[in-house]
Amino acid sequence: MGVGYYCIHGAVARDCYTCFASKRHKDDQARIAELEGALREAIESVEDWAGYASAYFREKHDLEGEVKKLRKALENV
Ligand SMILES: [Zn+2]
Repeated sequence: MGVGYYCIHGAVARDCYTCFASKRHKDDQARIAELEGALREAIESVEDWAGYASAYFREKHDLEGEVKKLRKALENV
């Protein structure tokens, strides 16, 4: 054999799944934080731009409802 190595989880014959999963988890967490930030900024932009839209269009596109939906999505992360 001789293809194994040691990681914090002990000796592994090939790639350590726990190492892989924990790196993957860390990457996922970073990606989620990044997307959360982008969504937060997008919500702010929508609210800013809505200030330039007429009441007619704000109501036509249910802006308040849309923003609420997006904020709820953030809360559920
Ligand atoms: Zn490991």
